[in-house]
This record gives sequence, C-alpha cells and structure tokens, in this order.
Amino acid sequence: MNTIEHWINGAATPGASRRTSAVWNPATGEHQADARLADPSDVDDAVRAARAAFDSWGEASLSTRARVMFKLRDLIERHSDELAAIVTREHGKVLDDARGEIARGREVVEFACGIADALRGGHSAEVSGGVDVHSLRQPLGVCAGITPFNFPVMVPMWMHPVAIACGNAFVLKPSERDPSASNLIAQLYADAGLPDGVFNVVHGDKAAVDAICDHPDIAAVSFVGSTPIARYVHGRAQRAGKRVQALGGAKNHAVVMPDADVDFAADQLSAAAFGSAGQRCMAVSVAVAVGAAADPLIAALERRARGVKVGAGTEAGVEMGPVVTAAARERVAGYVDSGVKAGAEAVVDGRGLSVDGDGFFIGPTVLDRVTSDMDVYRDEVFGPLLAVVRVDSIDAAIDLINANPYGNGTAIFTGDGEAARRFERRVTVGMVGVNVPIPVPMSYYSFGGWKDSLFGESHMHGPEGVRFYTRLKVVTSRWPRSRLDAESHLNFPTSR
Ligand code: NAD
Repeated sequence: MNTIEHWINGAATPGASRRTSAVWNPATGEHQADARLADPSDVDDAVRAARAAFDSWGEASLSTRARVMFKLRDLIERHSDELAAIVTREHGKVLDDARGEIARGREVVEFACGIADALRGGHSAEVSGGVDVHSLRQPLGVCAGITPFNFPVMVPMWMHPVAIACGNAFVLKPSERDPSASNLIAQLYADAGLPDGVFNVVHGDKAAVDAICDHPDIAAVSFVGSTPIARYVHGRAQRAGKRVQALGGAKNHAVVMPDADVDFAADQLSAAAFGSAGQRCMAVSVAVAVGAAADPLIAALERRARGVKVGAGTEAGVEMGPVVTAAARERVAGYVDSGVKAGAEAVVDGRGLSVDGDGFFIGPTVLDRVTSDMDVYRDEVFGPLLAVVRVDSIDAAIDLINANPYGNGTAIFTGDGEAARRFERRVTVGMVGVNVPIPVPMSYYSFGGWKDSLFGESHMHGPEGVRFYTRLKVVTSRWPRSRLDAESHLNFPTSR
C-alpha cells in the first residue's frame, strides 16, 4: 500500500506520527493509499523549516520571486494531465473538470507573476517642509493553509502562490481525502527554484489543524471548508493572535425569471448543479423559479438530469463522477429521503442509479416544491441534488436568499436589466452571476462569500489576498542639510 508522506524542507518525510488515514478511489471503492496524519511535532518541524527559510526568502528580490512564479506556471501547465489524473483518482471528478480546476488555480500563479506591481507602495513628496512619506507592504512570516477535498489543486492555489510571492513561507495542510496533488505541487515548486522550506505540506486531520491554529510561529491562517469547521478554526486561530480568513460552506440559489430563456437557464443550472457531482462550493443547489417560469423549467431540468452520463471520471464521454466517499453517498441519499418525506416531489431520483462496481455513485436528483423549512433546503447537501423552490416575484426570491444564513454565490437568469440590477444590488451574497451560474471571480479579483460562508474580513487571492499576506508600513523621512533646517519643539507635529 502506497503511503503519502509529508513534504518538509524540500523533501518527502514520514514524520513522527504513525497514524494514517485511508485514501479511496471513489470510482471503484478501492482503498488505494494511506495518508500520514501529522501530530503536533510534525507540524512544528514544518513550521521550523518555514521559519528558517523565511529569513532569506522574505529578503529575496521581487524579480527573484516573480521568476519562480513564472517557472511554476509553466511547470503546472506541463504537468496538467498528471495533476488531473491524480485529482480524478482521489476525488472522482471527470478528467476535463479536473483540468479546469488546474487551469483556474494556474491563473492565481499568473496573478502572482505580477507581484511587483501588486506590491507597489505609495509615495508623497513634501508632505511638510523637507518631509516625504512612502508606504510599503511587508510579508508576515510563516502562513498556513487548511483546505477541503473538493478542489485539491485550485483551493490551495488561492493561497500559497500569493503568500509566497509576497515573501512569506507557507505550510499547507490539504484534505486527507485527496492529499497527493499537493506533494506534486511541492515538487514543482522545488523544480521552479523555490528554496527548501518555503513551501511545506503536512498531511493530517484535526490534530494537525489544532496544532496550526495554536502554533506561536504561524502568523496567518487561511482556511476553506465547511461552515462549522471554518467557524471553529477562525475562533481558535484568532484567539492565538493570528490573522485569519476562513471560508465556509454554501447554499447557492439561482433565480429564474419568467422572461428568461428556459432552455439556456436549464442547461446552465444542470451544469452548475451536477458538475463535479455537486461537490463545488459554487454549485447551484437551489433553483428559485419565479411565477410562470416554474413548469417549463422543471420539465427542461428533468430532461437534462435524466441525460447526464454518470460513471468513472477516467471514461470518455462521462459527465459526472461519483461522490467522494461511501458516507457522502449515504448523506446525499438521506437528504432525498427526508425531502420526499417532508412533501417535496422527486422529479428525478438519483437513488436508483446503478453503475457497475463498488464506486460511490448517486445520480442527479431534482426535487420540486421544496420549502424553506425542509432540511434539504436548510442544510448544505454537497451532492448532485437540485432543490426547486417556487416563488411569486423577484422580491420574494431576494428575500428568500437574504434570509438564508449562507452567502457564497448566487445567480439570476433574466433578459430584464432592471430585475438583474435590483437583484445584484439587494442580494446579501458575495459573488453574483447575471446569466452566469457559477460566478467564480477571476484571479485578479478576489474570491469570498458573505454571512456564514466567510469568517474574517478578507476574501482570497487578488488584491485582498495581497493585503491579507502582508502588513503595511508607512515611512516618514527627512534629510535636513543641517540641524537648523528641522524645527524641534514639544508640540504634536503638524505640517507646514
Ligand atoms: P471540511 O470542513 O470537512 O474539511 C476542511 C478541512 O478541515 C480539511 O483539511 C479537514 O482535514 C479539516 N477538518 C475536518 N474536520 C475537522 C475538525 N473537526 N477539526 C479541525 N479540522 C477539521 O470540508 P470538506 O468536506 O473537505 O470540503 C467541503 C466543504 O468545503 C463544503 O462545505 C464546501 O462548501 C466547502 N468549501 C467552501 C469553499 C468556499 O470558497 N467557501 C470552497 C471549497 C469548499
């Protein structure tokens, strides 16, 4: 059985802990590897390596840092198929979808290639007689990332390229369910010329997460995962005095107006609901059908859901793979049960799907007449289940979304500019699509939700990422020709 080791100070290492966790192939049900589970001493080893590496990396020139990012970008492109194969083997998503996540992650590296511009400070000459001011942003030291299973390449890349380009060292704790891609990324960083110790990978579970939150030499923690753990990590790391951004779960609503092109909306919604078996933080899990949109929309969604080709992500022509574990499949099936018991109508029921072998498959499911008091509406299901809620007006749709505790992404499908604008301005959600179902911001904007989808102030990557991974310094300077040029008295200084 293959054991997936940590990557500390430029080399694979088993660490001290003997605990491991099974890594499954979700398409076959095979126990294919074991991941090391770090104990606090392994985390400490990684942090010490990072702390030592930071001393010189924090002083590396902007050109040196940018050159590493340019090389990394090319290596990621060259190894895209290899990375995608790893993602499909451990996560289950289809190969093209895996290539898509790698491309979106690579775009953050491309943003980091321009770090010299992103870190440019301000300068004001002659703010007072003979006095100038300039500002600069400096790295924090050692930063850590804790990431979920559903994007094993892209989500860590929201963090480490920006942190490292800003001059920090980084410790990544990826999901123990699909850990291998992070080790290949570590190798690619080494091949790109990043000094040993600047990027480290520690595999683990709660013990490793707690050790990261508590470690006195970690300055900042970036977390992405479910809302209960995001809230926990935010509280624990903040109490330990760290800067924290913790992105949580989601319940993303897409509103379909009566004037929308129903076939277009149904195409977009089914792609966003069933792609990656619904295991995307920006998956659409609730369709909000306004007025007369409902019946034609349901009919179009039913046709599409029944037509989705489900199977192993490595097979040609397959559009949707399995969910990540047997437990995840049981959880999704349980939500279909509870929705139907509570009065929802199963237009398409994925529980009956059968795929050869022991993989963790469940088919696309569409539930109509879901109401906001049902568990299947309230909870994040994180599977290929689309709940349809019927409302009378756009204002009722906005009220529904705003009453939901999550606020990650949302979308509206309409041809009416006034409705789209009203929606965009009033909705309490961080990322909004207009006729775009999964409005994931480009790398040079920043990614983040509102309400229970994000704890902390900063969104990830882009300009907010640069601010998160640096701190501001403002320098006021004077170079008098003689002591007499500079007035000195005991009053608070004012400009003259
Ligand atoms: P998860 O919360 O179970 O795990 C996330 C990380 O936390 C993993 O590294 C895991 O090892 C660690 N962890 C798990 N349980 C822990 C515990 N009790 N104490 C400390 N650490 C713990 O999430 P997941 O199942 O891997 O990923 C799916 C979730 O992530 C969904 O809720 C999804 O919406 C969310 N997600 C959100 C975004 C976003 O941008 N908001 C992006 C991707 C995924």
